[in-house]
Amino acid sequence: MGEKILVIEDEAHIARTVRLYLEQAGYQVLVVDDGALALPAFRNERPNLIILDLMLPNLDGMEVCRQIRQTSSVPIIMLTARTEETDRIVGLELGADDYVTKPFSPREVVARVRAVLRRAQGQIQASSVLCVGDVTLDFDSYTANVAGQPLELTRYEFQILAALMAHPQRVLSRLQLLDQLGEATYAGYERVIDQHIKNLRIKLGDDARHSRYIATVYGVGYKFLAGAPADA
Ligand code: CA
Repeated sequence: MGEKILVIEDEAHIARTVRLYLEQAGYQVLVVDDGALALPAFRNERPNLIILDLMLPNLDGMEVCRQIRQTSSVPIIMLTARTEETDRIVGLELGADDYVTKPFSPREVVARVRAVLRRAQGQIQASSVLCVGDVTLDFDSYTANVAGQPLELTRYEFQILAALMAHPQRVLSRLQLLDQLGEATYAGYERVIDQHIKNLRIKLGDDARHSRYIATVYGVGYKFLAGAPADA
């Protein structure tokens, strides 16, 4: 199933044409024809991208954009019948990602949608989130979750897990893991790493003998398993 596009446009023939072309391109399309319905539709449907007309009944496109941007960075392409530079600049300043000036060819809209989605997906990958299997680390908020459940990790646990997850299936020695913590070598550091790993396993619900996440490689160190349970 393709990405979901919310089209906010009150001119029925334009909405119909845009819907047709986007559906042919494989996207799911929802149309809303009133500015006041835009925010509820956005909240309920969680679209991947919004096509937003500037001139709308009840709440204009600029205001819709401003309100969506208070809570979301969803890609927005503005449609504008006006050609004045100021409208485009205001739209982009409000956080629209791109704009298309009417009259437009529907193919152009589809091309813009593709380009903006590709750019947005690139930003997500470039952003500081690391996902391996069902474990996700967010380096911005320093939060972690497994299968959607939040994990309460200490800073060291987070850093060790991040080091292991950055190279799934690759064995890291205790010394390499200590390096990741920015700590100098000290007597007994191996036991300290082992304790962090033990705590991580408990929090991940992992079992050292039948690891799903962190496997012990005896005499060498630890590795993160890329998703497949050892006992599957
Ligand atoms: Ca309109």
